[in-house]
Amino acid sequence: MNGQPLLEVRGLKRYFEQQSGWLMRRRRVVHAVDGVDLTIWPGEVLGLVGESGCGKTTLGRCVLRLIEPTAGEITFAGRDLLHLDPAALRQARREMQIVFQDPISSLDPRFAVEESITEPLRTHTNMSRAERNEQALTLLREVGLDRQHMGRYPHELSGGQCQRVALARALVLHPRLLVLDEPTSALDVSVQAQIISLLMELKDRYDLTYLFITHDLGVVRYISDHIAVMYLGKIMELGPTREVFEEPLHPYTKALLASVPIPEPRAREWDFILQGNVPSPVNPPSGCRFHTRCPMAQAVCREQEPQLRQVAPDRWVACHLEEER
Ligand code: SF4
Repeated sequence: MNGQPLLEVRGLKRYFEQQSGWLMRRRRVVHAVDGVDLTIWPGEVLGLVGESGCGKTTLGRCVLRLIEPTAGEITFAGRDLLHLDPAALRQARREMQIVFQDPISSLDPRFAVEESITEPLRTHTNMSRAERNEQALTLLREVGLDRQHMGRYPHELSGGQCQRVALARALVLHPRLLVLDEPTSALDVSVQAQIISLLMELKDRYDLTYLFITHDLGVVRYISDHIAVMYLGKIMELGPTREVFEEPLHPYTKALLASVPIPEPRAREWDFILQGNVPSPVNPPSGCRFHTRCPMAQAVCREQEPQLRQVAPDRWVACHLEEER
């Protein structure tokens, strides 16, 4: 791609200390994100997928510095996000917003819709109250609501309406990047489809870039340009969505896609069922983290960790068995 990436993540790690046992004396380290590299280009939708507990939500929060990374680099629009002074970080945060999974609890129950949407403007701009309200109304209409919703509180709205308000609030400062953390998984199926098409409309209208975090492969196939598959804190495969769906290279991607129904299951050469549970991120398996569940695992997989490497134009995979094409 030409130009400058909007977001570049290099070697990102986030470890948590967990205390347990008698008097909380036992300390364990959770390797939630363990050396992730990602690039997102302006206007792109990157889908980040994986089973729950794989670290994708932690990664999304680290990117916005809602959680401080343990190590690594994050560059946003050419700026080194981990070494900005407070004023520059404040400015960068205006340009990156997040929409959470649970639309009702993501809004302050004490705020009516109007206050929820105008609150970032009050904090970050010198706009008058009338200007702020005008802006809120414009955005409310953009997300499919209207003036009658301005005075309502979250408990008076449906889940889908709350998610529309959360989107209006996220857009009010004209961000460039939206981190969408399972934005439809708490909604009814019919409402999910409406929110997904709204997201695609807003992306074009506001020139947005999305990091779309989800466990829903159907949604990610529809919305994403590229897909990154995450397992136990690491990226296992990365590539254009269509290519990854048509010809997954990593055994974990193959297993994930095997769970998505297709009309003619025999058409898949790589159909196999994922066995067992995701191992603990406290003591991730040695070598390839997927070896305890991988039907193709070999001796080398238990000893050496495969690196994420390019095997074809725009295709990246972390597996010892995958040759360059
Ligand atoms: Fe399976 Fe080995 Fe590839 Fe890991 S490196 S995915 S264990 S074949």
